[in-house]
Amino acid sequence: MRAALSTLKFLEAGSLSHAFKIMKTHPGIMPTAGCTDIYVSLNFGTLKVREFLNLWGLSELRKIQMKGDYLSIGSLATYTQIIHSDSVKKWIPMLIQASSSIGGMQIQNRGTLGGNIGNGSPAGDTLPVLAAAEAVVVLGSTEGIRRISFNMFYTGYRKNAMNPEELILSVEIPRIKSQQWYRKVGTRAAQAISKIVMAAVLSKDPEEQQDPRRIRIAFGSLAPTVIRAFRTETALAENGNITEAQKTLLSEIQPIDDIRSTALYRQTVAANLLAEWWGKVSPRSLIKS
Ligand SMILES: Cc1cc2nc3c(=O)[nH]c(=O)nc-3n(C[C@H](O)[C@H](O)[C@H](O)COP(=O)(O)OP(=O)(O)OC[C@H]3O[C@@H](n4cnc5c(N)ncnc54)[C@H](O)[C@@H]3O)c2cc1C
Repeated sequence: MRAALSTLKFLEAGSLSHAFKIMKTHPGIMPTAGCTDIYVSLNFGTLKVREFLNLWGLSELRKIQMKGDYLSIGSLATYTQIIHSDSVKKWIPMLIQASSSIGGMQIQNRGTLGGNIGNGSPAGDTLPVLAAAEAVVVLGSTEGIRRISFNMFYTGYRKNAMNPEELILSVEIPRIKSQQWYRKVGTRAAQAISKIVMAAVLSKDPEEQQDPRRIRIAFGSLAPTVIRAFRTETALAENGNITEAQKTLLSEIQPIDDIRSTALYRQTVAANLLAEWWGKVSPRSLIKS
């Protein structure tokens, strides 16, 4: 461990309001959930923070429950919890696929949805799911509760719209009645960080055929943040031509060369994934004559 543990200070939140107060009175303190990302940064010696707030005991942030028309998933819900949730299975099965692909069993037992969002890696596996599902992030502080659309949450590479004193409380996901699809492309099936992730939603409900949001496509690892491919969605909705949509996609993503992959590989695979998904979802019913 390159960061000396003896120099670190850990505070314990006894309740949510206590956690809000600590966040307000200790500027620069970092909240911790499962610590699976934080521990890696400490081990690499890249994390300069020395004061942490342990949220793990706040069981109210661990609930997964239906609230009217949306599913609320607490920020401390672990991947194991998500995988075993009947509500997630029924309404957001692509989130189960994403959660099952994360790390190994130990990481799934400890890693949380809030931690994946807070960490904000463009390769975070649940993030394209939340983008395609049009989730809402619920934030809290001593100032109160506020909601922000997940698609507005990231403002740049690992930067987000949270105020320093705020905590992620939960994620609200509208029930998705449409067909869902999730694919993670990595070096191998388990314990691999993704090279590309795609999540997509397609409504075949005749009543929603005029809804511009009936096709929703999101990618991870193709830009500094998770992205919604809005122009590609529009191209597909207009005429269903996959070749045109692939061209549009390539014009709206900015993949980079890095240690995990090359920009060219990512462009090629992204276009192939789009075509694979579109081929599977029987687009004929959507194509205008
Ligand atoms: C071996 C290994 C394999 C992994 N494999 C994958 C993988 O396949 N896919 C993948 O996406 N990730 C993977 N990860 C990364 C990590 O496990 C996930 O990002 C996980 O969801 C992080 O959750 P956590 O609770 O451990 O977060 P923590 O490490 O506790 O926190 C991460 C960040 O989020 C912030 N945070 C956490 N909770 C809150 C909150 N409630 N409010 C505000 N900020 C908060 C923290 O301050 C910190 O900045 C892997 C990590 C390891 C070590």
